Amino acid sequence: MRAIVLEEHDGPLAVRELPIPEPGAGEVLLRVGACAVDRFDLAVRRGLREKAALPHILGHEIAGEVAELGPGVEDWAVGDRAASTLYLVCGRCRWCRRGRETICERFGGHIGVAIPGGYAEYVVLPARNLVPLPETIGFPAGSILANAIGTPFHALTARMHLLPGERLLVTGAGGGVGLHAVQLGRMMGASVMAVDLGPDKLAAASRYGAEIAIDPTVDDLTEAARAWTGGSGVDGVLELVGVATMPATLASLAKGGRMVVVGSHTGNDWTLDPGLVFRNEWEILGSRNVSVDELATVVDLVASGDVEPVVAGTYPFEQVEALHERVREGEVIGRDVLVP
Ligand SMILES: [Zn+2]
Repeated sequence: MRAIVLEEHDGPLAVRELPIPEPGAGEVLLRVGACAVDRFDLAVRRGLREKAALPHILGHEIAGEVAELGPGVEDWAVGDRAASTLYLVCGRCRWCRRGRETICERFGGHIGVAIPGGYAEYVVLPARNLVPLPETIGFPAGSILANAIGTPFHALTARMHLLPGERLLVTGAGGGVGLHAVQLGRMMGASVMAVDLGPDKLAAASRYGAEIAIDPTVDDLTEAARAWTGGSGVDGVLELVGVATMPATLASLAKGGRMVVVGSHTGNDWTLDPGLVFRNEWEILGSRNVSVDELATVVDLVASGDVEPVVAGTYPFEQVEALHERVREGEVIGRDVLVP
């Protein structure tokens, strides 16, 4: 099979011919239909965060068609279309049994880091990670469901419990996760304020339903949020950026407001006044990706047309370097996708 291989951390990506892998017990061989690309791939490539054993195949956002079943896999058939969640989980610990497998006590790492990923014509995945993908959802759209749509779906439903009529602020709103957060917020009956850098991303967020869109390097984010809500502040903050925007977004929260933190790529240090938290009864929550049950709901939301998957572009393997450059420069509106 053809695969994009990382032979040294921070080194080039090379298209190589490799043997097709064999699925083990509980696993399936998936013919990759598409693999979405995001900043996480760039970090893995550089050897930051979890370190992949080399040589390595990147790619953690995968959709495709079942090509072969490993021993003991009974609920899938060759030819079935599927989308995958992102993590290796045990399926048996207390969190897995409660449907919260993204905080699995025996977390096994990311697909595309701990095991070879989807930058290849074939990939072996645990059957428990897969959900059926209908014919009406193409593989490029299918590949962005778990991360770009699943992440904000879990954050806004299971964690924030966003309600109709509420005001939601989304940072990083013009990115792959953000544009779907804006759509989901609108779908759930909230009004959405988008925060991102540059006119293109703000225009995209507005196009997908944001009522106002603010560049915090141009306008004061907190003042804008207060003005938008008549002074009361926003009910929910979906924080996809992290500490670069958290002081301003926290100051934008209404009494009883909830901040859900998903992003942390702008640093690790943050100062919090506990007095503000208890006096305002603020809730500050973490949210990690999406469960396989929730991913099945995301598939339904896309199939029904309630959420539009924003695929920015599709690229053949030979253009992976240009694609990574686009992601590195923050040029992608939505998600870019590799197609074998
Ligand atoms: Zn578990």
